[in-house]
Amino acid sequence: MKKKNIRVTLIGFLLVGLLGSMSSCTTDYVTGRKTFSLISESQEVAMGKEADPQIVAEYGVYDDPDLAAYVSNLGKQLAEKSHRPQLEYTFRLLDSPVVNAFALPGGYVYVTRGILAHFNSEDELAGVLGHEIGHVVARHSAEQLSRQQLAGLGLGLGVVLWEDFRPYAEMAGASLNLLLLKYSRGQESESDMLGVEYSSKLGYDARDMAGFFGTLKALGAESGQSLPSFMSTHPDPGDREVRVNRLAGEAQQKAGYKPLNVDRYEYLRRIDGIVYGDDPRQGYVENNVFYHPEMRFQFPVPADWIVMNTPSTVLMASPDKKAVIQLTLGKADSPALEADEFVAGEGITVIARRNTSVRGFTAVILETQIASQDGLIRVLSYFIQKDNHVYVFHGYSLTEQFAGYSQTFVSVMGGFDKVTDQTVLNKQPSRLRVRKVTTGGSLESVLRQMGVPEAKLSELAIVNGKKLSDPVKTGEWVKTVGN
Ligand SMILES: [Zn+2]
Repeated sequence: MKKKNIRVTLIGFLLVGLLGSMSSCTTDYVTGRKTFSLISESQEVAMGKEADPQIVAEYGVYDDPDLAAYVSNLGKQLAEKSHRPQLEYTFRLLDSPVVNAFALPGGYVYVTRGILAHFNSEDELAGVLGHEIGHVVARHSAEQLSRQQLAGLGLGLGVVLWEDFRPYAEMAGASLNLLLLKYSRGQESESDMLGVEYSSKLGYDARDMAGFFGTLKALGAESGQSLPSFMSTHPDPGDREVRVNRLAGEAQQKAGYKPLNVDRYEYLRRIDGIVYGDDPRQGYVENNVFYHPEMRFQFPVPADWIVMNTPSTVLMASPDKKAVIQLTLGKADSPALEADEFVAGEGITVIARRNTSVRGFTAVILETQIASQDGLIRVLSYFIQKDNHVYVFHGYSLTEQFAGYSQTFVSVMGGFDKVTDQTVLNKQPSRLRVRKVTTGGSLESVLRQMGVPEAKLSELAIVNGKKLSDPVKTGEWVKTVGN
């Protein structure tokens, strides 16, 4: 959960495109041919503009203006070399440890701090930004959207109304899948080609971008479980590495496409100190307690429950996934007003309501019943005032199962409290540290000399874009992780 983000409501940005629903003839910017499209350029821009705040709410923006400006400047220089230089591009650095980069229609491009930590040169960053600009230029997501329109895929308003009461997986799926459409293999290849072209034109060595596919491949093998979408939506990184390498060579043979040989250390210096992995200041669980050091609150987490912490919401699901507790920040000025707003929602019946206090904080406790397509849902809600925020807890399950969970709901929400423990308040994230090698050897021996623990060795090899057995020379720069 993040301080600056409040509740996300899924406002169907697609409606802009759907209700407009006008077909128009547009230009294929890469080939210059006229093509049939349901979405005009102004609609593309409107879609991006509408969805961008949702992306920001979902991930949060990484708090380092210099680094963000660096990414944005590089992105804008690349965009000027693209086939659609007239678009207004927005580049954002997202506060997520996941290795990811993506684009929205109309010129919105995103990279995560996680992917920046995994780049080893500015050439890699330029190649990936160029690739995402390629998706925008070739109107890939706009194209996907018009295809969905043609297929007549209705996007029910139910999604919007039931946002508050959907288990997390579905909720995330609903919002993010709509935003981050999957591209076809052909579209990925086209973007690879455009990424090579734009970054080469600017003097970057696109062979480094090919090398980054090796990093993606190693990451996929290492993590196994949850493939970041940058990888899962893309074709096999191995194939792409070979192809991009070839394209890069061809691009460089053309006149004026000479790589600048950008100093690798220059890039590493910029990411030195970047937050690495999850940031505990935005919430973490320890010994069945959720702590939020930045916002100074805590509450107990039932043993075995699944906890998901996003910038806008903390979600907990029972092991059988039949009950959910969610915590968000309210928008109203008081618990009473927040509760009023909640019960004003459609189809909500109030069973009980009382003003009270929770650990000294002013609160309203509400029990309601909601008619849903899956049956009656019983909800226990706590609206708690702490500092300048109203914390909103909803615990819910189907009405017939509610009795089995109500005690758990009460103990979690009633256990909400301020944090006073200094150890919690001073909790710090891990950070990437760039260090000069004093005695060369294998990457493994160098990392060990730098005090990297055994368990982190293979992960850091990937971060460095190398194998543990690769040689590292005295005087070279290596990434480690520290506080
Ligand atoms: Zn792509």
